[in-house]
Amino acid sequence: MNPKDYFEPVIGLEIHAQLNTKTKLFSSAANRFGDEPNTNITEVCTAQPGALPILNKEAVTKAILFGLAIGAKINPYSTFDRKSYFYPDSPRNFQITQFYNPIIGPGQITTDVDGEKMLFTIEHAHLEDDAGMLKHFSNFAGVDFNRAGVPLIEIVSDPCIRSARQASSYAKAIKAIFQYLNASDCNMEQGHFRMDANISVRPKGETKLRNRIEIKNLNSFAFLEMAIDAEIERQSELYLAHPKKNPDDVIEQGTYRFDPAKKQTIMMRKKESADDYRYFPEPDLVPIKISEDTIEKLRKSLPEMPADRFERYLSDFSLTKDSASFLTLDKALSDYFEKALTVSQNAKAICNMITIEFSGKLKETGQTLITLGIPAEHIGKLVNMIDQKIITGRIAKSVVEDMIQNPQKNPEKIVEENPDYQPLEDTSQIEPLVDKILSENPKSIEDYKAGKKKAFAFLVGQVMKMTRGKASPEIVNKLIHKKLDANQ
Ligand code: MN
Repeated sequence: MNPKDYFEPVIGLEIHAQLNTKTKLFSSAANRFGDEPNTNITEVCTAQPGALPILNKEAVTKAILFGLAIGAKINPYSTFDRKSYFYPDSPRNFQITQFYNPIIGPGQITTDVDGEKMLFTIEHAHLEDDAGMLKHFSNFAGVDFNRAGVPLIEIVSDPCIRSARQASSYAKAIKAIFQYLNASDCNMEQGHFRMDANISVRPKGETKLRNRIEIKNLNSFAFLEMAIDAEIERQSELYLAHPKKNPDDVIEQGTYRFDPAKKQTIMMRKKESADDYRYFPEPDLVPIKISEDTIEKLRKSLPEMPADRFERYLSDFSLTKDSASFLTLDKALSDYFEKALTVSQNAKAICNMITIEFSGKLKETGQTLITLGIPAEHIGKLVNMIDQKIITGRIAKSVVEDMIQNPQKNPEKIVEENPDYQPLEDTSQIEPLVDKILSENPKSIEDYKAGKKKAFAFLVGQVMKMTRGKASPEIVNKLIHKKLDANQ
């Protein structure tokens, strides 16, 4: 039996996104990545006795904006709580989080999952502070408190996700929302956006939730998908191997990590329950009260959201769902696309140029159009040259390569300066080439006359090949037609 036919996974995600505020959640220390260790700290970050937290308004504003973007209820009254645990990078021995009254109530995310529009529900989102970082050296470890106290928003989904693909689509949609709001930089290599996945598996049709395990700290969408798939398989196989056992004894709650090399989930500890954290109200902070006025003002300031932009790309530009999704999930790339559109109105061609021609060639380099610094206007110019038949599509491919080598160089200039890129439009120059190809391929001529259309395309292709794509395909077509049809 294929376990996939029998079992259904139930997945919920907890996503931690660092808010890109100027300062930390409870102190005036800079919220900045990459500085010398322990330079962005105040007494609050290192929990010196008597140091008191003061809430950062910018973090609250960004949390509210996120809540509004997902159509959530913004709680007019929310509070902070202490979550107790010991870890060397957390000098207070507790995290300040929101347990009893989170700032964001239930909301929802709509996004495209492989061409299908799906809705995911969010249980709540809350503010909390990040821990410091342990750094391991050859013979000692150090703690860098620069990250301690950086504002996080934790977004807790309902267990409404049913596949690894859905999970990554949901997470990508959330990441995009933060980018559109400019509320988080979402740089995954720098840990701005970290995902925990809760996974359980049950026989299809069963309504009760079985024990779940949590995979911590996934920092790429590819790993998220791989980890979820590996865990679904592990649980399914264990249930199949122990059909008589109580399911609670087959899969025990626990916290896991994902080992990408082994493609396996690995247990770190048996699950602690909420009680273990001894949550209690934070006495050093006053409740957050948010007025209806503030909420309305922020609602009016909301920019276009990725889901709206996606719909707009379908209706205004007739892009495919895949292309629209690829562009709109990346705010910077989508803005880039729109900038190119100010030069050429051929949206589909610009989209293909960005998502296929350049992406394909840049894939292995780790670069993008944006990191390379190719101006968006140049993409528009390149498309214009093709549309105006100044160059053929085939030559455009070479121009793309030159643009990658010379990111600042105007494609018009590239074409102008290279004689190989000048199109061949002189009929008297093309005609002898056509004659040559025809004389070399009598079989194709026969086939064409016998009604095989492919033979005609083959002959055109041979001439194009001989001119390295420079000949005007229209003229080649016309000439071959003239010669073959005249002979009939
Ligand atoms: Mn958390």
